[in-house]
Amino acid sequence: MTEEQNMSQVATSDERPGLHGEIRPMDLRTYDGPLYCENLSQTIVSHSTLDGSERLYLGPKTSGEAVGLLPLNVAKSPGFQRIWRRKKVRVSTDPEMEAVLEMAEIRMEARDKAALEKLDAVVEDDPQNKDLVPASCATCGDQTYQTVAEQKAALPPLCNDHADQAPQFVAEAYFDKDTNETKTRWVKPSA
Ligand SMILES: [Zn+2]
Repeated sequence: MTEEQNMSQVATSDERPGLHGEIRPMDLRTYDGPLYCENLSQTIVSHSTLDGSERLYLGPKTSGEAVGLLPLNVAKSPGFQRIWRRKKVRVSTDPEMEAVLEMAEIRMEARDKAALEKLDAVVEDDPQNKDLVPASCATCGDQTYQTVAEQKAALPPLCNDHADQAPQFVAEAYFDKDTNETKTRWVKPSA
């Protein structure tokens, strides 16, 4: 069944009391349309059917991910019905929940988009940030490569063998008399 068919089924269900808005576990005996679930608690709600084919995952009530489509077989599972009866969740056939769901999705997409745009901005700001420059491994002196961004972030250059040693190094500025420049060298402070 398509979602549209499901929706129209709900929209014409006004004449069927008990199948509109908030419903109870016993109503599932006569209802097989779309269900929405809202997490009313501060903890994550996660339930799946025994075979794992259908799953409900809801974030805490203030997370912006507290509303979701509730698979019918999850709704019928005893584990889920227990938290439903304890009013940890609210189950609804109300198409208005679809609007809440859409809003939550739009919010999440906007959040992802903002994160992507931020990343793009950093690279677009200066595409050179992605360029690789040769450097000497701070531990063994072998040649390795760093991105310009890594250099700007003052990360120690390390070869693949010593990449895990980064936290051990601190940058030390020194004045190179030969070139009249202030340079950075990487030292391991003695423990
Ligand atoms: Zn090395």
